[in-house]
Amino acid sequence: MGISEKMNELERALKKANITFELNVSLKNKTWLKRGGKTNFWIQPNCKIQLQSIIVFLYSKSIQFEIIGYSSNCYFTENYNPIVTISTKKVTDFEIDQNTIKCGCGYNLMKLSNYCINNGISGYEGFIGLPGTVGGAAINNAGSYGSIMSEVVKSVELLKQDGTIISLTNKELEYEHRSSVLKKNNNGIILSVEFDASMKGNIDKMREKAEKNKKHRKTIKKIHI
Ligand SMILES: Cc1cc2nc3c(=O)[nH]c(=O)nc-3n(C[C@H](O)[C@H](O)[C@H](O)COP(=O)(O)OP(=O)(O)OC[C@H]3O[C@@H](n4cnc5c(N)ncnc54)[C@H](O)[C@@H]3O)c2cc1C
Repeated sequence: MGISEKMNELERALKKANITFELNVSLKNKTWLKRGGKTNFWIQPNCKIQLQSIIVFLYSKSIQFEIIGYSSNCYFTENYNPIVTISTKKVTDFEIDQNTIKCGCGYNLMKLSNYCINNGISGYEGFIGLPGTVGGAAINNAGSYGSIMSEVVKSVELLKQDGTIISLTNKELEYEHRSSVLKKNNNGIILSVEFDASMKGNIDKMREKAEKNKKHRKTIKKIHI
């Protein structure tokens, strides 16, 4: 099947599944750094099920794609024109169950940080000014001001290229400085992330710490990561 036929099929599949998309979009208008060429399909699923179904479709048709959260850790060059770009920003499912918080991959990390602080869950105060989604942060082992993904992620739900879904534990993610096994191998996409909510802290102290971190972040021009 040729590429134009695949693109027609993709458009039909998106319409059928009622998934939001735009055609021929400049990545400059969509990315954090306002960089990049043009993407034929800008796709924005609004829940995990939609994300999963479109990725399975793309894998099954061998259509290459870019997946981004807030793109705060991506630099697209002007002549980079991916056929398909998927934004996870609306995949924001959220569940809390005793000692575990489960977030869709597009959940905003600062929002998670705020939620934890206001509910007395410690370990998340340093993430308060860090832009991005939990999926992007979990892959990159993002960290700041004493909070780091490798210490709070319990597991990730991974959709593999063969269409199967597996869970990778913290240990299996093989976290290193700003890296993980997923960053090195690019072997699937994160659908959701499970976080440890068992660490309790004093709400006032955590708010104070977060406020201090936020203020400090505003004073620095460049962050060395
Ligand atoms: C002003 C600023 C300050 C920053 N400060 C810090 C800091 O203090 N500490 C720090 O660690 N980082 C920092 N960063 C980097 C960045 O914010 C983090 O790496 C963040 O976690 C990236 O999240 P994102 O959603 O923007 O990921 P994106 O940039 O969208 O994606 C990053 C990578 O993850 C992949 N990806 C995204 N979502 C998925 C998914 N669901 N499944 C599979 N792959 C996926 C993308 O393909 C890409 O390769 C900063 C960035 C900016 C712009």
